[in-house]
Amino acid sequence: MDRYGLIGRKLGHSFSPQIHALIGDYEYKLYPLEPEELSDFVENTELSGFNVTIPYKRDVMGLCRRLSPQAQAIGSVNTMVRLPGGGFLGDNTDWDGFLRLLSEDGAAIKGKKALVLGSGGASLAVCAVLGHVGIPYVVVSRNGDNHYGNLDRHRDAALIINATPVGMAPNCGASPVDLRQFPACGLVLDLIYNPAQTALLQQARALSIPARNGLLMLAAQAVRAGELFTGQSFSPGLAQEIADKVEARTRNVTLIGMPGCGKTTVAQKLVALTGRLVLDTDELVRQAAGMEIPAIFAQYGEEHFRKLETQALRQAEGETGVIVAAGGGVVTRPENLPIIRQNGVCLLLERPLPTLAVDGRPLSGERGVQTLWRERESLYRAWSDKSYINAEPGKTALAIKEEWKL
Ligand code: NAP
Repeated sequence: MDRYGLIGRKLGHSFSPQIHALIGDYEYKLYPLEPEELSDFVENTELSGFNVTIPYKRDVMGLCRRLSPQAQAIGSVNTMVRLPGGGFLGDNTDWDGFLRLLSEDGAAIKGKKALVLGSGGASLAVCAVLGHVGIPYVVVSRNGDNHYGNLDRHRDAALIINATPVGMAPNCGASPVDLRQFPACGLVLDLIYNPAQTALLQQARALSIPARNGLLMLAAQAVRAGELFTGQSFSPGLAQEIADKVEARTRNVTLIGMPGCGKTTVAQKLVALTGRLVLDTDELVRQAAGMEIPAIFAQYGEEHFRKLETQALRQAEGETGVIVAAGGGVVTRPENLPIIRQNGVCLLLERPLPTLAVDGRPLSGERGVQTLWRERESLYRAWSDKSYINAEPGKTALAIKEEWKL
């Protein structure tokens, strides 16, 4: 079997092995390298080809025997393929990846102005493609003539592309720009794919601006790399199929609802059905505080508990492909909503109020479930993508598994 892989410095969270497993029947492994190991690796590897990521995309250019026109136009290499007679061809399939992402909705903004945020490696690929397809662009760089302090020059921008890491862990929730500054904006592309819905994309959604994350680009650049590796041509729909599969696999499912509505039980049933990990925010709070929840309420009050709950939620939603059982009061803090939305769907479980258990649930016991429901119902409905009547947890879990392709 032919052997390929990915080199870079930190590769722990890479989606590439699962993507390449969906492309072809070849081995694809991760090879994390320190800078001093790079040239030795390229000279001595027995791989037939490999991808290159941060921070080596430029460094490997000098280690290639030939460069493709795309690699030359971008000024970096992300795919190396062994040449007959020795040495490597350096190519850059981010070109194909971004072209594919842009082609989804790009026709609508042809000839109009694009703003490219960031001036790093991804920005170079984006600019090369924009130039190639004839979309005029301006690069916004923290240290450039066009920077984040004079964005009012660009109120006419029709397309905004985030090619910075702003919005990724550890800065999930941060956004490089406020889209309300761009009244002509008709499309937002964020090259980040984890989290799936950055703060920038969530704001685009709130403002009804069409927007996409970078997962299709990632899949399309991998498909093109797979073609270069194997010499085969793959179907034009493969990149979208892969993006859909990876999205379904990495999507979190967050269960919300009144205390006692069965979130933990449905989550456990989903674990049995899907093999996914379940993270229960009450349990994470208990572990962090080293005490039971009624004791936290009694000793420190609700506000303190809510802060711990937000931290627990951030921890849980920082994972991908997990089931999150959230505490009943999670909807009482607005900052919890973007955390829940960043990587998946939010599902409301409902049960008739008289059947809700109140044991060990301080607020249900103290204030009564009717009052809590009155206060929270509109929030539960606004936050959730869908609601399920949880009459039988097994059936509810099955319905969720099937509907969300878990
Ligand atoms: P990079 O080479 O490190 O460059 C990122 C650029 O972002 C920097 O050059 C900098 O530009 C700007 N930047 C960095 N930190 C910033 C901050 N705190 N605030 C504002 N701007 C900041 O990284 P890259 O390879 O270009 O990747 C950028 C992003 O694209 C990453 O999130 C990466 O995951 C994503 N990406 C996605 C794909 C895909 O297939 N979807 C492919 C490649 C990259 P200035 O100094 O000019 O401001």
